[in-house]
Amino acid sequence: ITSKLPNVGTTIFTVMSAMANEYGAINLSQGFPNFPTSERLNDLVTEHLRVGHNQYAPMMGVRELQEQIAHKIKLMYGVEVDPIQEVTITSGATEGLFTSIAALVHRGEEVIILEPAYDSYRPAIEVVGGVPVIYQLFAPDFKIDWDAVQALITERTRMIVINTPTNPTGAAFSPEDMQALERITADTNILVLSDEVYEHLIYDGLEHQSVLRYPKLRERSLAVYSFGKTFHKTGWRIGYCVAPPELTAEFRKVHQFNTFSINTPIQYALADFLKDPREYLELPDFFQKKRDFFLQQLEGSRLKPLTCSGTYFHLFDYSEISDMPEREFAAWMTREIGVAAIPVSAFYSNGHNNGVIRLCFAKTESTLKAATERLQSM
Ligand code: PMP
Ligand code: GLN
Repeated sequence: ITSKLPNVGTTIFTVMSAMANEYGAINLSQGFPNFPTSERLNDLVTEHLRVGHNQYAPMMGVRELQEQIAHKIKLMYGVEVDPIQEVTITSGATEGLFTSIAALVHRGEEVIILEPAYDSYRPAIEVVGGVPVIYQLFAPDFKIDWDAVQALITERTRMIVINTPTNPTGAAFSPEDMQALERITADTNILVLSDEVYEHLIYDGLEHQSVLRYPKLRERSLAVYSFGKTFHKTGWRIGYCVAPPELTAEFRKVHQFNTFSINTPIQYALADFLKDPREYLELPDFFQKKRDFFLQQLEGSRLKPLTCSGTYFHLFDYSEISDMPEREFAAWMTREIGVAAIPVSAFYSNGHNNGVIRLCFAKTESTLKAATERLQSM
């Protein structure tokens, strides 16, 4: 067969988690928490299973959940969204991203992505016949020159994908970044696909810059979120997409024939759970403590931390230890040191090497302690 995606292999997260299992390494590669997650939320799901919420949910989502999401957005970002016309429940952010691209990018249209980029964007663009246009950012600060991004815009540009806080860099967009994005998209038909799965994982008093806060961006944006990330249940595969009614209508044309609708009892359970905003308002503090503990345990190590303002990933420069390329170094570390990491080169289409690895700190203190003891031995 002629592959539609000849350059795509198995996602790095699957590869590194498998390697971690094979060698019995502590897995700080794929991003998922290993601490106990909310029992109250589990109980709510059970409750809704028992009361009989077990048939197809509405295609766009359970009304109670759409409403609670609109409420949360109002509380977080001070904006009104119409729960019925603007919020669609998805099978994780992964479906939200894919459906946005499939529904809105025509064959031959260009989509600008900023690398290092989450690995699902490019294949989604390619499989629908879109053309990825890549702008690369580099360690240590991954700074975006928006004039350079603007220079990539042509009459075929359909969409720009952004991700803040950013996986894998841990960067967080500033208000100036958002204003620049507003400026370069003004008077164009360009859509913004805003991956905000780490909206609650932002530190040092910074505020998450959602496209929803910026009226001129909001009208051209699809913003994608993940309950898996927010409530530590990555296996539940549920998230949502917020977009103006016209864009949502197109989004749902694809969503309805992709998943049709999402797990019913979990939607009801999340609607109840969201009524207590502390469940998400306390997250920055919770994860900042983990980040700081992790860094403190690594003090004096030959892994040099870059800056992490958000997400639950931290980048480290390993040039004092080795000049191996990142993939080789990550494999060696998994095998010989017993800690699995993600090579950041996997987030670049040309495999660019900064000599940095990504480690996930969404782990219990004892896991972080055991991992850092091993990392200190390098
Ligand atoms: N975007 C980014 C930047 C991610 O790191 C992830 C992984 N959680 C996703 C999207 C996908 O999220 P989900 O697990 O909800 O599909
Ligand atoms: N988003 C997670 C990460 O960056 C992994 C998601 C996945 O494995 N698909 O590690």
